[in-house]
Order: sequence, then C-alpha cells, then structure tokens
Amino acid sequence: MKDEKPVALVSVGNFGSEPRRELRSLLGLTGCEISVNTLPAGQAVPFVHAHRENEEVYLILSGWGQFWLDGTVHNLAAGDALRIAPAVERCLRSSDVEPLVYLCVQAKAGATPNVTQTDGVIVDREIHWV
Ligand code: ZN
Repeated sequence: MKDEKPVALVSVGNFGSEPRRELRSLLGLTGCEISVNTLPAGQAVPFVHAHRENEEVYLILSGWGQFWLDGTVHNLAAGDALRIAPAVERCLRSSDVEPLVYLCVQAKAGATPNVTQTDGVIVDREIHWV
C-alpha cells in the first residue's frame, strides 16, 4: 500500500491512564484495529453490540470482570484471552473493586489464513547490535 508505514513506534504510556486508545491511526495499522481500554471499577459498557464482519480478541491485562455473551455471563481476569465471533452480542463490566484494563484486537474474520509460522520468511542477513 502506498501510504503504509514500514515501521511505526509510539508510546501508549501507562495502560489504564486513559479510557480508550486506538492504535490504528497511531501506528498506521492496515489489517486490524487494536485498542487499549480501561473500564473504571463498578462500570459496564453502556451498550450491547455485535459486529458485521469483524471478530474480536480481548486480552485482560489487569483487573477482573464479566463478559455477557449472547445471554451467558463469563468471568474473566488478568491473563485471560477471549475470541468472539462477529455475530455474538456482547457487553462487559468491571468488578466493583478495580478497573478492568484490556486489549481489544479487531480484524475481519477469516482475513488471516496464513498464520505467523507460514507467513514469516527467514532472511539471510547479519546484524550488528549497537
Ligand atoms: Zn466490538
């Protein structure tokens, strides 16, 4: 792609210092959206949503809470990863004790048939660390 940045590096600071940071524009992402989110203690996302084409992966960085998925409640805590298919209706809430800090990766379902192991190419190159 013409406007694609070969490499992008930004600091998103301390996780949890802002409600939501979307990395798509910060990094020039072209294949997915990644956001770092903080849901304050005792709060829920104020809407239920689903997606048309995108699956989501939530990685809980700190705290704990609950995900409501098509009417079923699931408990999640730091270290848990959750993949949600596009059509699943979802909502989440944090515990009353601490904020829920999580990473959300959103990409078109089925868009990455080549996993890292088959897409990566070993390059014969010597490097010198300074
Ligand atoms: Zn979503």
